[in-house]
Amino acid sequence: MTYSVKEAFYTLQGEGAHTGRAAVFLRFAGCNLWSGLERDREKAVCRFCDTDFVGTNGEGGGKFREPGLLAAHVKAIWEANASAGGRPYVVCTGGEPLMQLDEPLIDALHAAGFEIAIETNGTLPAPASIDWICVSPKANAPLAQTSGSELKLVYPQTEPEAQPECFETLDFEHFFLQPRDDGPGVSHVAAVAAYCLKNPKWRLSLQTHKLTGLP
Ligand code: SF4
Repeated sequence: MTYSVKEAFYTLQGEGAHTGRAAVFLRFAGCNLWSGLERDREKAVCRFCDTDFVGTNGEGGGKFREPGLLAAHVKAIWEANASAGGRPYVVCTGGEPLMQLDEPLIDALHAAGFEIAIETNGTLPAPASIDWICVSPKANAPLAQTSGSELKLVYPQTEPEAQPECFETLDFEHFFLQPRDDGPGVSHVAAVAAYCLKNPKWRLSLQTHKLTGLP
């Protein structure tokens, strides 16, 4: 298949258990919960997205006709930035990366030496060969992927089916709550902290790239 990549760049993972780890971020174009077009936002399943995943025109973006070509592209970005030592790490994100991340591409990235992480909305099943599966559930979007490495939930949310208690019995190693981003002057950190203090299964995850200015 041809892979459509919005952007691919080298940075530090900003969220969750791997916060601070160097990685190539591979952002696939497209999502199954929103077209990405503002005119469709009101009727989308997921309406609070802050990511541009439309098209292939970002830094390091493009169309790749073979898995090997995309793996080579990711490897070139890593090698242009990282010295030897430290395991190469790629974070597949989107949009919804599971619309495109298939076994041939996973094999090609592994063959290029990468440990593979994914950040998914959980509505599509993830191949078991992915090394680190992070699921971020969305309200009104039932989970197909109910196991993995970390579950990351935005908090607070009003929908009954988007409460932490709905997810805490699922088969994940780590459970993170991330304060909802309502823009400047509004913070939900205290609400998340209070929940995590009372329910120690959950940990606070901050969007450190927004705090630090990293991309
Ligand atoms: S599922 Fe993720 S990428 Fe898709 S619209 Fe929602 S927040 Fe954006």
